[in-house]
This record gives sequence, C-alpha cells and structure tokens, in this order.
Amino acid sequence: MTVTTIIGLEVHVQLQTESKIFCGCSAAFNPTHPNVQTCPVCLGLPGSLPVMNRKAFELAVKTALAINCNIAPYTKWDRKQYYYPDLPKGYQISQYDLPFSDDGAVEIELNAETGEKRKVGIIRAHLEEDAGKNMHDESGRGTDSQVDLNRAGTPLLEIVSQPDLRSPAEARHYLEELKLLLTYLKVSDCNMQEGSLRCDANVNLHILQDDGHKIATPIVEVKNLNSFRNVELALEYEVKRQYEEWQKTGRKLGDVPKETRGWDAARGVTFAQRGKEEASDYRYFPDPDLVPVTVSEEFLESIRTTLGEFPADRRKRLIADCGLSAYDARVIVDQGAPFADYFEEVAGLCGDAKQACNWVTQDVLREMNERHLTIDHFPIRAAVLANLLQRIHAKQITTKSAREVFLELLVENPSRRPIASSHIDQIIAEKDLALVTDSGELERAVGDVIGRNPKAVADFKAGKQAAVGALIGQVMKAVKGADPQAVRTMLVEKLSGK
Ligand SMILES: [Zn+2]
Repeated sequence: MTVTTIIGLEVHVQLQTESKIFCGCSAAFNPTHPNVQTCPVCLGLPGSLPVMNRKAFELAVKTALAINCNIAPYTKWDRKQYYYPDLPKGYQISQYDLPFSDDGAVEIELNAETGEKRKVGIIRAHLEEDAGKNMHDESGRGTDSQVDLNRAGTPLLEIVSQPDLRSPAEARHYLEELKLLLTYLKVSDCNMQEGSLRCDANVNLHILQDDGHKIATPIVEVKNLNSFRNVELALEYEVKRQYEEWQKTGRKLGDVPKETRGWDAARGVTFAQRGKEEASDYRYFPDPDLVPVTVSEEFLESIRTTLGEFPADRRKRLIADCGLSAYDARVIVDQGAPFADYFEEVAGLCGDAKQACNWVTQDVLREMNERHLTIDHFPIRAAVLANLLQRIHAKQITTKSAREVFLELLVENPSRRPIASSHIDQIIAEKDLALVTDSGELERAVGDVIGRNPKAVADFKAGKQAAVGALIGQVMKAVKGADPQAVRTMLVEKLSGK
C-alpha cells in the first residue's frame, strides 16, 4: 500500500499600506485601542462609498509578478455575503470569477545537497478586505464578547496554491520561502504573531491499495494556522487522523461534504468546526460601488522595475560571486535582506568573503539570537567587523584574540557606544593582544624553553612530533601575543638544527 499526502495552502498576507484598502483609515496594527481606526466606510454605514487604495493594488501586482502569475488586463470586485459580528456590512469585498492574477508558481528546494526542487503551482492570487476581530471572554463565564473593527478593511492578498505539496514539512518549507520572498519584496511585514501572514491548509490522502485500488480521503481544510510550526504540526496530525478515520469508516472523497477543522495548539489536535460553505452559499455578485480595474502594460512595466533581487537569485549570486557553499548562501539569504546586505558589506570591505561568512553566520548570528536583536540593531556595524577581520589578515592579532575583541565590543559599555573601529585598538592595547612581531624577543624565549626541556627535545629528535606542542605552550606563556604558527615554525626549525 502506498499513501501519498496531498496538500494545498491558502495564504493570507496583509499588505503593508498606510491606509486601508477602501478608505483612508490607518491600517496599523493596534489591538490596545479598539475601534479608533474606523470610519463610515469600514464600519459599513449606509450611504458610504468605498474607493480603491492604489498602493494596495500595486503591492498585490508586485507580489503576483514575483510568483510568476499572469496579470489580468481587467479585474473587478465582488461581494461575498455572510454574516458575522466582525463584518458589519454583511459582506466582504473580494474577487470571485475575475481575480487580478492567476497561474503562477513558486519553486522550493527540497534538498540542499542534491539540489532537488519542487515547483508549487499557484492557482490564483486575489485581493480582498480583512474582517474585524471578535474577542470572546475567556475567563470561563463566557458572558462578554467584544468586536474590534480596527482591522476591518485592511488589505489582504490571498495566494492559493495548487495541491502540489507532498508532506507537512514541504508545506512549511513552501510557506517559509513565500514569507522570505514577501519580505524581500517589502510588500508585507509578515508578522505572524500579529496575523499579517495566516494560512489555511487543504489536505487529504491518496491511498493506493495492494489490490491496485486507488482511493482518496475526504478533503479537510484546517483554518487559521498562524505559525510555521502550527502548520506542520496540524498537518501531521491530520494526515494520521485521516488515515485512521479511513481504516475505521472506509469513507472516501465524495461520501461526505468538505469539512472545516480548527487547530487546538495546546492539545495538539484538529477539531471539527462546521461544514464548508460552497461558493453558491456566499451569493457572490459584482460590487456596484467600485469601478473595475484595467491594467495597462505601462503600469505593469513600472511595477516590474521595483521587483529587485529575489532570494533564490541572491543565493545563486552569493555562490557564484563569493564562492560560498549552497548551505552558507541559504543561511545568509534566509535571514532576510538586511542580514544579507550586512554580510555583503563585511565581505566587500574586508576582501575575504569566506572569512566574512564564517564570522557573520557563526559569531554575529549567535550573538544576535542570544540578545534577541535584529541585524539592524546589532551594535557592531559591518564596517567595524570588517576592520577587525582585516587585522587577522594583516597578522596583527590571532583569530582567537579577534573573538575576544568581538565579545568585548559587545559588553555594555557607554564609552564604547556607538562602537567604532578605534575601540578595537583600545581593546587590543588593554588586553595586550597584539601579535609580537619582534623576532628577537621570540627567539630568546624559544631558546630558553628549549634549554629548560631536554626531555621534550630528545623526544622530538627521536621522532615524536607531538613533543613540540608542550613547548609551544611554554613559549606562548612567556611571550603573550605571540602568533602560535610563528612559534611552531621557529621551534621546529631550531629543534631540527636548521
Ligand atoms: Zn475606514
């Protein structure tokens, strides 16, 4: 028996506009002051008229172009009727049969080592307005529910994928790649905690039985997944549940209506919510208050010029131009554009991309994570790090000492804020880290150590190369700041009688 998991995702992205999609109210996230970012339009008061936000449409087209969608030359708005307390108009303005874009694709890498990729088809991307937010009293008595309409009317882009994903891990990977692309495009902040990126997942199983019979399990839509981890966990649970349900009941696709389920992250289970509405339940019809949008070739061209470099292209460039491994290129690019910019600046200034890569992906990333900082707030700027790395290159300090300087720069010290390259000199002087280049001093120390250690010398001469290690340590102790490599060379030369 072979079981294939079939997953398609519907991703809702809040576009980063100043104002809402059909009125001038602020679209900023503001949960602390409910219902202050509202007006007759987004409250749905009779007689108010919506006007499309051009910026929202531009950001939507920019995204659709980046995911290789066709852009329709003519698109319109439709009313999707349903009643819910967070939707006072009684309908949501959305796009039904003529979405502004369709038929795209996003490529994800399944395996960094083999380079195996999967092309995930995009059925369509359309624009709509968000609803408000209901807040239910969760104290247990359940008597108090409140509605906040600050979010009502913020612009949402819905991106619907083909059912091309084959595992929960792939679904997560697709979502991560899509999020990265959206942040590179600067069309959304993609803040999942604030609900700027939400996901519904459609999932079922195709089961090929040993007797050659093929069946599909009923499709389930898991709603409102708000983190990568929850997407993966909910899908893993649902794959297992559907298989067990099929074994128990034998129910196949078509035997029951499509089901909508929620995800209870605390209990780690999906739960039945309601039967899924059909499109006809929504009684879609064209919104008579909004004019259709025609898209010219000039408009499209002007948007194309703003696309910039995509994450996948940047990875390729870092591999080709900087000599990075595919793994390192992914680590750097996946941290976001500002981090990749930081790396490129350090690499350019210090002249050694591989060294810059080691420091940025290990030391900088580790300290950022420990201090919960983004790269924009990391106190050692690219120019200062590059300056530090140049000193290793120039043999002024060892790599080990450079790490000491790096950590010392990060110590909270008002006299070293903002951190400048001159502070590197201060620390090298304070900690006596400068490499000793005076070969006279080194030579004296090496001679002393050899004189004091006849046994180690005899061992070395008898062929025990390891004996030199103990001697290096003693010389380093005597001459603080000596370059261990130079000490080793000098010791071996002397011991070999050269
Ligand atoms: Zn408004």
